[in-house]
Amino acid sequence: MKNLPSLFESKHLNPRPLESRIPFCKLIEKKTNKIFFFMVATFLMTFFSAFPCSGAKLPVAASIFPVADIVKQVGGEHVEVITIVPPGASPHTFELKPGIVKKISSARIFFMIGAGLEYWNEKFVNSTGGRLKKVVLSDGVDLIHEKEHHHGEKTGKHHSGDMFANPHIWLDVEIVKSMVKKVVTALASVDNGHALYYEERGNKYIAELDRLDQTIYKETGKFKIKRYVAFHPAWDYFARRYGLESAGVIESVPGKSPTPLDIKNIVGNIKKHGVKAVFAEPQFNPKIAEVIAKEAGVKVLMLDPMGGPGIKGRENYIDIMKYNLAVFQEAML
Ligand SMILES: [Zn+2]
Repeated sequence: MKNLPSLFESKHLNPRPLESRIPFCKLIEKKTNKIFFFMVATFLMTFFSAFPCSGAKLPVAASIFPVADIVKQVGGEHVEVITIVPPGASPHTFELKPGIVKKISSARIFFMIGAGLEYWNEKFVNSTGGRLKKVVLSDGVDLIHEKEHHHGEKTGKHHSGDMFANPHIWLDVEIVKSMVKKVVTALASVDNGHALYYEERGNKYIAELDRLDQTIYKETGKFKIKRYVAFHPAWDYFARRYGLESAGVIESVPGKSPTPLDIKNIVGNIKKHGVKAVFAEPQFNPKIAEVIAKEAGVKVLMLDPMGGPGIKGRENYIDIMKYNLAVFQEAML
């Protein structure tokens, strides 16, 4: 408050001749009013900058962390993103709890992958009273279909078209570019005042993703070994985009352990194709991967399709993909 008198003297109460015509008590009253006004304004400014989400930002929800980060890259300072599946959890075994629904009750848009990943989405969207705009990022994407249902028996309420779809589209950077466009359109439709801002950030982000895609393309092109064994079928889109091939998965349906015959087949494939590592994932227990790797005489490496806040080197989508590229390089060069 030190600079208060000089501020008012110089800006508002000059020139001096006018001041000299006002009686002294009136002058004090005038100054006090202005100081009071200034203090209230300062208080309000401090209050609102400390709670920027109270009204200023557009609240949106995203099903998984990679989607939340992609939305954040586009939405920047005008969007507040809440992630539904917590870090460290697998979306395949995630269960929607009332607490989470309450947490996102203010959200205006719900960004989801679709293709059966968010098997709980109808319950979730209905619980918000139909006010929530749902954006399915896999719409229009050329989906890979599995022989087995990706989510086991837990999910009775799929659309029939989703039944055997593989939802891991975000692990193909080229597909993510199309997802960014959908995010830009959705944010602009709800928050039209910042449409240009979202478009500019979206274009800038797509250019960054382009560079990432080219790097992965170039580096995977150097791989001597093209086949890999993953924990679950998360890398099918990555493999399709970058010319790799699955030599088997440990859990074809997440949460369903392989039979002794499955293990025997995977070990046989590892030896046959000269695979150098088995990939585990932080969202699943690595025990079976370790057993298989030991039997086949190869090492266990950790791929991470999810990343998350606070996980060093995997705190945004681009870094997640760089991390995974480095792990693939360790196993396949
Ligand atoms: Zn998965």
